[in-house]
Amino acid sequence: MTETPPQLIHCDLHGPSKYGIICTHLCEKNSLGYYAISAEEDEPAQAWCKDCDQVLESERGWTEKASNFAEWKLYCSICYQQRLQRQTLIQWVDGS
Ligand SMILES: [Zn+2]
Ligand SMILES: [Zn+2]
Repeated sequence: MTETPPQLIHCDLHGPSKYGIICTHLCEKNSLGYYAISAEEDEPAQAWCKDCDQVLESERGWTEKASNFAEWKLYCSICYQQRLQRQTLIQWVDGS
């Protein structure tokens, strides 16, 4: 019997790694404010910018519209941390 492999992606810099997801705005620009959820057992770490948070608020959750606006990008966990070092944390959000 094979076990289900953990959620890994292959990073060109860091090899097979766990991943986090970041909204496209945080990928493209620096010095944005962001909100973040830390990784859980079966949930990746997640971060999104102020603009996304406004859509999230008005949609009252990650609906299709909110997710389309965020255009989530996968980053390995190391790249994820490095990417967010260029941004400013506004608030940690509890996962639901
Ligand atoms: Zn965003
Ligand atoms: Zn990486």
